[in-house]
Amino acid sequence: MSNLLRELSVELGERSYPIFIGQNLLGTCDLSRFVGGSQVMLVTNETVAPLYLESAKGCFPGKRIDTVVLPDGEKYKDWQTLNRIFDGLLERRHTRKTTLVALGGGVVGDMAGFAAACYQRGVPFIQIPTTLLSQVDSSVGGKTGINHPLGKNMIGAFHQPQAVLIDTGSLQTLPPREVSAGLAEVIKYGLIRDLDFLAWLEDRVDALVALDAGALAEAIYRSCACKAEVVALDEREGGLRAILNLGHTFGHAIETFAGYGNWLHGEAVGTGMIMAAELSALEGMISRADCDRITRLILSAGLPGKPPAGMTADDFMNLMAVDKKNVDGQLRLVLLRSLGDAVITSGASPENLALTFDRFCS
Ligand code: NAD
Ligand code: MG
Repeated sequence: MSNLLRELSVELGERSYPIFIGQNLLGTCDLSRFVGGSQVMLVTNETVAPLYLESAKGCFPGKRIDTVVLPDGEKYKDWQTLNRIFDGLLERRHTRKTTLVALGGGVVGDMAGFAAACYQRGVPFIQIPTTLLSQVDSSVGGKTGINHPLGKNMIGAFHQPQAVLIDTGSLQTLPPREVSAGLAEVIKYGLIRDLDFLAWLEDRVDALVALDAGALAEAIYRSCACKAEVVALDEREGGLRAILNLGHTFGHAIETFAGYGNWLHGEAVGTGMIMAAELSALEGMISRADCDRITRLILSAGLPGKPPAGMTADDFMNLMAVDKKNVDGQLRLVLLRSLGDAVITSGASPENLALTFDRFCS
């Protein structure tokens, strides 16, 4: 593994697994030791297949590899498309000893992971994430699932992978908007748990936007380390894991208002974190200077700093009322107790929330 820059472990007892991070690992890193039997079902999509399918196959020497190529897009994260994975597995007579491999962004990862959780009551799977968002977020932590017409990610299972392989080289083909969207989640880790990382990001944000390989590898390593730590402490989101939702309550409202797909998730989270920072400042938790610092970093990652034109405080309140974190109708938000330290609270004052909307809504 000559191109392996870093290795991390997600510590979950017998469900522990490694994360390998490096450049040009696709095709050179041998993952066959994570495959129990002889069969591999590689799941990818029509955008990623022409770019990386052949090299990904090189990670499983000596195995019988079948592939399922899904259509590309969040709108295909549904039952019908999921069934195509089961069709492929059954047609090719994959047994309980098969291993699924997800090659692609978060959509492919969530779907292949969920298929692995269900097929023959559960088979192992491996994550090979190819977007920045999936490399720093969705491939680690074991949340898998699909959308329902009545709600996003509403059908799913916790199912941890056997290993995660992150090839930073695959990011070179990623559209710039997707890079910025991934950076929103990277910045989130600095804000919620790692002040040193936040300062490092302020120095390196231009290099990251420009896809500098060394800067990317370091940012991905530190992001995965943070997520791995939080997941190890709270695998099934009994408490702490909710801090990973900084900016997401405002962000989900923006995504829904804009219509899914018009704003990328990371773009909405970026603006959501700016709004959460504003509310934290109004609540006297962080200083005005901290709040400005956060805004500056998010904007310099190429992310929008304001909700879509026409979105009102009422729109926010109505859309935020259905958030999964709410308990007994009380709005719960992740705020910053200080820079680098997040807290989940239902204690924000309605006046300060209204003031926040005033400052951001048109
Ligand atoms: P995505 O999977 O839709 O990928 C974005 C786009 O980039 C797609 O068009 C994809 O085909 C393309 N692409 C992927 N890799 C590429 C590459 N290397 N070069 C060029 N194009 C490439 O989106 P995403 O942002 O990766 O993931 C979003 C999904 O992840 C959502 O469905 C979300 O719910 C889910 N998610 C899950 C978790 C979790 O914990 N399971 C966490 C966050 C997000
Ligand atoms: Mg997110």
